Amino acid sequence: MLARFLVWALLLLVVWRALRSLLRGIVQGASAAPPPPAGPPEKGELMVRDPVCGTFVLPSRSVSMRDRSGTHHFCSDRCRQAYQER
Ligand SMILES: [Zn+2]
Repeated sequence: MLARFLVWALLLLVVWRALRSLLRGIVQGASAAPPPPAGPPEKGELMVRDPVCGTFVLPSRSVSMRDRSGTHHFCSDRCRQAYQER
């Protein structure tokens, strides 16, 4: 009889502790949640202008070239060559 009571008491204690930590986690998650990141979304890649023909290109899909004044992006190899030759 006493042994059964002890088992139940222990079980209740364990369940109570688990519930309490769960509740605390929910409260903390709701109040201390980090604010959503500000600024432009990462997926929107900024377009850059081809200095030769003026076409706007995505840096990741363009023909790029580095020189003393920085990195330049071109719509095609022809524009890059034209830029280098002038
Ligand atoms: Zn071009």
